[in-house]
Amino acid sequence: QTIGDFFDDMVARQPDREALVSRHEGRRFTYRELQAASNQLASALLRSGLEPGDRVGIWSHNNVAWVLMQIATAKAGLILVNVNPAYRTAEVEYALNKVGCKALVTMRSFKTSDYLGMLRELAPELADSKPGELRAARLPHLRRIAWIDVAGQGGEEPGVQRFSDLLASGDANDARVAQVQKTLAAGDPINIQFTSGTTGFPKGATLTHRNILNNGLFIGECMKLTSDDRLCIPVPLYHCFGMVLGNLACLTHGSTIVYPNDGFDPLTVLETVQAEKCTGLHGVPTMFIAQLDHPRFAEFDLSTLRTGIMAGSPCPIEVMKRVVDKMHLSQITIAYGMTETSPVSCQSSTDTPLDKRVATVGTVQPHLEIKIVDPETGAVVARGQRGEFCTRGYSVMHGYWDDPEKTAEAIDADRWMHTGDLATMDDEGYVNIVGRIKDMVIRGGENIYPREIEEFLYRHPKVQDVQVVGLPDSKYGEELCAWVIVKPGQSLTEDEVRAFCKGQIAHYKVPRYIRFVDAFPMTVTGKIQKFRIREQMVADLG
Ligand code: ATP
Ligand code: MG
Repeated sequence: QTIGDFFDDMVARQPDREALVSRHEGRRFTYRELQAASNQLASALLRSGLEPGDRVGIWSHNNVAWVLMQIATAKAGLILVNVNPAYRTAEVEYALNKVGCKALVTMRSFKTSDYLGMLRELAPELADSKPGELRAARLPHLRRIAWIDVAGQGGEEPGVQRFSDLLASGDANDARVAQVQKTLAAGDPINIQFTSGTTGFPKGATLTHRNILNNGLFIGECMKLTSDDRLCIPVPLYHCFGMVLGNLACLTHGSTIVYPNDGFDPLTVLETVQAEKCTGLHGVPTMFIAQLDHPRFAEFDLSTLRTGIMAGSPCPIEVMKRVVDKMHLSQITIAYGMTETSPVSCQSSTDTPLDKRVATVGTVQPHLEIKIVDPETGAVVARGQRGEFCTRGYSVMHGYWDDPEKTAEAIDADRWMHTGDLATMDDEGYVNIVGRIKDMVIRGGENIYPREIEEFLYRHPKVQDVQVVGLPDSKYGEELCAWVIVKPGQSLTEDEVRAFCKGQIAHYKVPRYIRFVDAFPMTVTGKIQKFRIREQMVADLG
């Protein structure tokens, strides 16, 4: 089955259930309404001259247009390209050209991001072209741009179509959509997602219906989602966390998708959970921390919450415990995965004992294989030993778009995906992610896992957040450096941190450099870019 078929079956079962609430847009859709709108958009996209297999970009924060594009492209056999809303001119040029996007749906602007302004800079030809007939030297594949207009929003944008006009050009009962949908196969690519760029340049992972539909299904299963669940999704849709763990998990279980906002804001999330009586809440660790530490946190009634997923980057045990105790998220789980694997490989179920649920990423998802190997020899390591996490099965991407070399580096001849993450597995099959191979620090011949030191420093009552990296050092090869964010209203000194470590962790694990900062360099998904911390420290230390 394809995503479109699966969605249509769900609509037939529960047409009048609420499918989508977009709080910041003030819009609500039942399953039947969402189907009608996405069929109409699929019809419009096909009528606009796009053919199955063509790439269509979405460069936007979370909104109704985003989810309509997700369903409509899947029905029309188009390949949706998720473009990071934080991208700037050069990055969007690279992404659109890399995959040959023919059409792009975007916002006019958002806060300080002038999306149409950036596109006009790249394609001055826009002003004199009709939608569908763009010919731009720097964006040679792109023919059409549509901007997501908010109801009643005025002003013309020369050469750029309104999303509402694009939608209106389609017909919700267009027989062509049903016809195309019938020709699609589960193994067809439908999505290109760029990786987060946590470790460097983003790579475009090509994913199929089978990849992400099944992943969304199993994620929802682990969370025990039903049509009574209402899931608050503050994470960006452009990333697999929002699109698969959020949208697809809901749509495959008949649950309600709730978007609190277009960008992340802790207060809006708290307000939304209360007002919409949400039963689930997703987030990266930094988002949960921001809510828990919000000065107005105690004012909100979060008692409807039950489950949710914390993922994307290491999830500190302390944060998990606070979320369980203070946010009613007694069934929250951690998930582990990567864009290239649709994304989730390991997850706890809501039944997993609490101690395992907060301290591990759970066990392997159904129908997948995992193994932990010595990165040098490729041999499977003993239980409890560290090694590279590898996975195989339905979830492994088709490949990196137009990049056979990088694909071959990541997926071996036996179809095992090599993740670049270090992990351990205990006797019962629970997995712990130790860190990225690239982040491992070797100081004077000792292997040090920054994650372990971060977990230790999190226990300091004044520490809100901490990141540990390795820096090049002429004497020891590498030295440890910790960046610490102190809790609001508290103060902390380097000596206090060192005293806290003394006698508790081995001397070589005590960070040589300690810096107090207000924030970490982050991707738009809230993932911390350690390579930027390293770059800045190297520059500072000369
Ligand atoms: P890039 O590949 O461009 O450097 P990225 O790897 O951060 O960026 P994603 O695919 O979004 O891009 O993230 C996957 C990575 O996130 C995993 O390989 C892993 O390192 C990390 N990760 C995800 N979930 C967890 C988790 N629960 N615990 C620890 N790390 C996690
Ligand atoms: Mg990666």
